[in-house]
Amino acid sequence: MPEPTADLATLEIDLGAVRQNWRTVRAQYRGPTLGAVVKQNAYGFGLSRIVPLLSSLGCRDFWVVCIEEALAVRTLAPDARVFVLHGLAGAAPADFRAHRIIPVLMDASELPRVQAEAAARGPLDVAIQFDTGLSRLGLSRTDVKRLRDDPSPLAGLRIAAYVTHLAHFSNPVARHNDWQWRRFRAWTQALPPAPLSFCASAGVFGPPERHAHHARVGSALYGVETTPSSRQPILPAARLTAPILRVMDVPAGTEVGYGGVYRTPQPARLAHVGVGYGGGLPFSFQRQAYGYVGGLPAPIVSGLAMSLMTLDVSGLPEGLAVPGAQVELFGPAQPVDILAAAAGVAPNVVMVSAGARTRRVYLEPSEEKLRVAR
Ligand SMILES: *Cc1c(COP(=O)(O)O)cnc(C)c1O
Repeated sequence: MPEPTADLATLEIDLGAVRQNWRTVRAQYRGPTLGAVVKQNAYGFGLSRIVPLLSSLGCRDFWVVCIEEALAVRTLAPDARVFVLHGLAGAAPADFRAHRIIPVLMDASELPRVQAEAAARGPLDVAIQFDTGLSRLGLSRTDVKRLRDDPSPLAGLRIAAYVTHLAHFSNPVARHNDWQWRRFRAWTQALPPAPLSFCASAGVFGPPERHAHHARVGSALYGVETTPSSRQPILPAARLTAPILRVMDVPAGTEVGYGGVYRTPQPARLAHVGVGYGGGLPFSFQRQAYGYVGGLPAPIVSGLAMSLMTLDVSGLPEGLAVPGAQVELFGPAQPVDILAAAAGVAPNVVMVSAGARTRRVYLEPSEEKLRVAR
């Protein structure tokens, strides 16, 4: 029996929008190889639907963070190339060979391990990440100097890509991006030639001269804006809704929520909605946040409980906010980045946690009809 889902919320995933976003990114990207990042169960959208869809659109490269995810992609896309961004991540080089999965080496200490495998059983496919300015994963400047002076640690390795990741991706004009690009070029030019992978979603909408050979695109496919400074022509692809359970009229001065977090300044009509932080929504907001009923905003006035929140619907037309009516927390009426910004978090924080915890329903790209997946 499937485990019960967190609450009454539903995450509606529009596969047609994902398809359109893939085409938009494909048209925008000048490099030869567009790959999809499908880590965290395809950002909460579900690997089992997203990988076949993207494969049918011509995607042949998938990027994940661990070998378990890579094996799941391998099953869904037997001919694809699958990259694991966190390097060997606890698995053995032989496991990568056995399943034709490519580790993106993220530390110099991984080189002797893959080389031992290559020496024992023949050439091994790897990618190599460089830490050009994020101070996170990848070989350092010192590592690169050592390899330039003595490239023997690369013997037996077939290098599928050199990879780096931007620290200031959300600001396309940040100087830091120029430095990272120049470092990436200089460092990799000193090493055996291999295709370069520089761009995530924001990069694809950035300068074409930096598109390089491989892009690793996640957010844009799922309809999440990662460059707030330039509106991207991408479509929202997920919609989180939950029903109104109960509507009540209260007098001025009524305390609402745990600890009386809100006190009605005047007589108000409240609507209690069946979703809370347990459904992946932020626990608290720094700015006023809204739920949308029939396309109109109503302020969220309580704090969030595990499976409940309260809207003040006094300002809505009569008959709209009634028990059973669906409230949209994000989707076409309210892009996920607006709700996330009210909570002071990145849109993917909300998207991934909602996707992990909420019942998903898929809107098919062709027939445009609903199908319950879990
Ligand atoms: C998550 C991730 C990406 C995808 O980034 P988006 O902004 O979601 O497109 C690309 N590269 C690396 C290294 C990542 O960790």
